[in-house]
Amino acid sequence: MGNATTHCPYCALQCGMTLRTDSGLRVEPFDFPTNQGGLCQKGWSSAVVTSVADRLTRPLLRGEGRDLVPVSWEVALDHIAARIRDIQAEYGCDAIAVFGGGGLTNEKAYQLGKFARLALGTSKIDYNGRFCMSSAAAAANRAFGIDRGLPFPVTDLAGAGAVLLIGSNPAETMPPFVRHLDAVRCRGGLLVIDPRRTRTAALTELGSGVHLAPRPGTDLALLLGLLHIVLARDALDRDYLAQRTSGFDEVAAIAVAWWPERVEQVCGVPVADLHRVADVLIAASPRAGGSGAYVLSGRGMEQSSHGTATVTAAINLALALGLPGRRGSGFGTLTGQGNGQGGREHGQKADQLPGYRHIEDPASRKHIAGVWGVEPHTLPGKGVPAVQLLDSLGRPGGPRALLVHGANPVVSAPDAEQVSRRLRGLDLLVVADVVPSETAQLAEVVLPVTQWAEEEGTMTTLEGRIVRRRKAVDAPGAAQSELWIWAELARRLGAPSVWPTEPAAVFDELARASAGGLADYSGVSHDVLDKAQANNRGIYWPATESMLRFDLEQGDPADHLGTPRLFLDRFAHPDGRARAVVVTPREPADPVRREAPIHLITGRLLHHYQSGAQTRRVPELLEAAPAPIVELHPELARRHGITSGALVAITTARGTAYARARVSLDIRPDTVFMPFHWGGLGSANRLTAPTTDPTSGMPDFKLAAASIALVTTA
Ligand code: SF4
Repeated sequence: MGNATTHCPYCALQCGMTLRTDSGLRVEPFDFPTNQGGLCQKGWSSAVVTSVADRLTRPLLRGEGRDLVPVSWEVALDHIAARIRDIQAEYGCDAIAVFGGGGLTNEKAYQLGKFARLALGTSKIDYNGRFCMSSAAAAANRAFGIDRGLPFPVTDLAGAGAVLLIGSNPAETMPPFVRHLDAVRCRGGLLVIDPRRTRTAALTELGSGVHLAPRPGTDLALLLGLLHIVLARDALDRDYLAQRTSGFDEVAAIAVAWWPERVEQVCGVPVADLHRVADVLIAASPRAGGSGAYVLSGRGMEQSSHGTATVTAAINLALALGLPGRRGSGFGTLTGQGNGQGGREHGQKADQLPGYRHIEDPASRKHIAGVWGVEPHTLPGKGVPAVQLLDSLGRPGGPRALLVHGANPVVSAPDAEQVSRRLRGLDLLVVADVVPSETAQLAEVVLPVTQWAEEEGTMTTLEGRIVRRRKAVDAPGAAQSELWIWAELARRLGAPSVWPTEPAAVFDELARASAGGLADYSGVSHDVLDKAQANNRGIYWPATESMLRFDLEQGDPADHLGTPRLFLDRFAHPDGRARAVVVTPREPADPVRREAPIHLITGRLLHHYQSGAQTRRVPELLEAAPAPIVELHPELARRHGITSGALVAITTARGTAYARARVSLDIRPDTVFMPFHWGGLGSANRLTAPTTDPTSGMPDFKLAAASIALVTTA
């Protein structure tokens, strides 16, 4: 092994980094377009994760004494295959469920979907990306006919006159991204909507931007208010709406009723501030001759049972101003997980086959069955979204076994205590991971797997740019790639089709499967990524062979191979038009009330990533953020006798969690914030509700009615 040019193991910015192996494993950033030479603390310390003290290195099987004991791969895989056969013989194919992850490489995401449908014959597969991007994806698919987080290169943001960020805090979650906002911030065009004065919201103060802090759960009303002002100022891009959209008149009719004073009452945002945001957006819009404007959504507005509607309201606003599909303007969403984009394109979702194909579409089934060498009728149908899948485990008629790959639902799923109970009740729980996560600790079989620095593969950034992951070091002990594990299990289960274990070969099959689909990778291969001008710059999908040949013949710049900008000529619906869709606010599923008078919101901290399974094992990250906190306003703190450092209890209808108080003026007095990186008694997801969005299946992570109480003083 030796030095390798690759990308960070964590978030969807996929910062470029070189792994140096001369004296232990060391990380150095390189000048990749998304990070421009920067890394955050997580990226800088990422090499540590390969050698943490409790790294899993051998398969573990729960023995007679109920402890997990090391066994050989032969024993572990034979045991799993035998248990699967027994359970399916008694309860049918759907008795085995699969839960995947948005951090898996494209190759693994693809192979996991194939493994579930061919080797297990189950429809019961979904993944943790359901908790991440599903609302944004559903809204974008409905509006534009296709979902690519940012349908433009992230570097385009630097030229904008305005960027509106709604429910997104990149200064904390993906800090190098902020350099793409520097220019717009200096122009006074940075606009942030967030109930907290986050690190990103604070940036608006450095450049005369605007931060709106609405009451949690009222984003949709606020967006209707902004649209109302655009209408009232006659700032609609009427030519664009007429030529490129449909359905806007009905949307406008709804927005008319959301005058600013009404929005102030509902959202708690001053009328004058609402006008300031509208002023900046309108002035930057193409119709006004501005330098362009972007509307960007994040999990804060998406992770609710009304998430699809809320993102739709943001898209409607962007359409009104004529932004999507325009060079220098647009709508996009900031994907969170490392392969949040690719993870949702290759068949891990309950309703999708590779290439972003719908599983119930006969032509899609025929195409994928052809690639897999089976008859279309043998492919299972549509499964159920993650929350329903987890909730059905062990119930009458529900799955009796679960295979978990690249996820830690005991920490990351809503109503986490209930999820734990469901997992404990299973006949078989298999978890493949690099460390003994909270979910792995409940398993009957734990499988040690390779991770980023130890494997080849590809990831797809938040801009739809396919990039290479490269191997620098060997995995420790007996850890194996999931590709090998699924091939071995498929063989034991007598599955049809071929099961390559080399990532390049799996990618070639994935590319064939994606051909003609919405996310078309058919012109790409590991070889093309390594040898073409795309080396270390990636290729944006869709990328067919003829498109890439044309790009290379034209001598396009290396970071513009494939399709960097979608929708410049037409949207992906058959008529080429974007859809404006009527959406209206509604009462939250868990409204504040006398016994639960506070809004609980959840989110991330700079030093941790997702469920924290990796970052909580990195000493310097743990030292910076050692334990869960509850952020609350001094006014609320005073009412309850709470000071910073005190142990407090937060209670919702699901249960109680405990954390140290952080008293801060950066949050609304009616709201408390908890990060979701911890399990156990400090788990924010002990408190969140499993109510889901009817369109996307997204649960209510971002809004719960809570009460707070002092447990012990600081
Ligand atoms: Fe970059 Fe995200 Fe990794 Fe930080 S966590 S270095 S922002 S990819």
